[in-house]
Amino acid sequence: MIRQKSFENESSCLYLVATPIGNLSEMSPRAIEVLKSVDVIAAEDTRNTMKLLRAFEIKTHCIAHHSYNETESSEGILNLLRIGKNVAIVTDAGYPLISDPGQVLVQLAAKEGFNIIPISGSNAALAALVASGLCAQPFMFYGFLPVKENDCLHKLEELKKVPVTLIFYEAPHRIEKMLKRCLEVLGDRNATLARELTKKHEEFLRGTLSELIEVASDLKGEMVVVVEGAKIEEEVNMSMDELLEEVEHFIHEGYRVKEAIKETAQKFNVSKNELYAAYHQNHK
Ligand code: SAM
Repeated sequence: MIRQKSFENESSCLYLVATPIGNLSEMSPRAIEVLKSVDVIAAEDTRNTMKLLRAFEIKTHCIAHHSYNETESSEGILNLLRIGKNVAIVTDAGYPLISDPGQVLVQLAAKEGFNIIPISGSNAALAALVASGLCAQPFMFYGFLPVKENDCLHKLEELKKVPVTLIFYEAPHRIEKMLKRCLEVLGDRNATLARELTKKHEEFLRGTLSELIEVASDLKGEMVVVVEGAKIEEEVNMSMDELLEEVEHFIHEGYRVKEAIKETAQKFNVSKNELYAAYHQNHK
């Protein structure tokens, strides 16, 4: 086990800095302070990050840390940490690692015992979830579904029985297809599409998957889809004898036969008529 007391040791620090998802006011004072104080900022796209740095007068040296060369680029960043430099990683928006680069680096840095320090801020998934109007807990963040049809349908089949709210990211040019695939596999569940979060044209569409599909082709911008989880159906694996014992139990508590059967049927989601027939068969 490696135990990290973030602010009580001399090891180098790898800061994971969340940046705004569209509204610069969501840049936290702590994020600015960290980005100013580190030796190097490793960015998903240095051109995008330079705009952010300029807006907050941050002059720290910025290097690239792309997702397509994450292993190679992680090694370079680890070398900086090894020689005592503090590094911050940022992506174009939101949290690093969340459908963004950073996973490989964090795992390697954790193994070597460097301090890995999160700097909180905006995240599209959580912003969409809490305002979705759907059950906020428990939830599962999936991110982008696979683009290839078969892979996507297969993944949705796996998610079909998961009884928690599901959160997906999707690009505007794929949203209609993605919603149709969700409808095909998950059924017509309640869902919320959150668009352009924190920006001027922020919009929430709360309805069912089929209602979202009707307008999907007109939707532009960045979007998150929050989908209601599978309904939990009480599994009844009780035998008829056990159900009849339950009926007797209710009768013993003072219920009349008819009421006892009704209560038992409701409690275990079984047919009242079948239970009634079995009871009278036993009491002939
Ligand atoms: N790291 C980011 C985070 O923490 O949310 C996510 C980055 S991922 C590459 C980009 C996707 O996040 C977009 O395609 C969209 O699904 C979602 N997203 C990012 N910003 C958004 C916004 N302002 N409104 C809605 N969705 C957004």
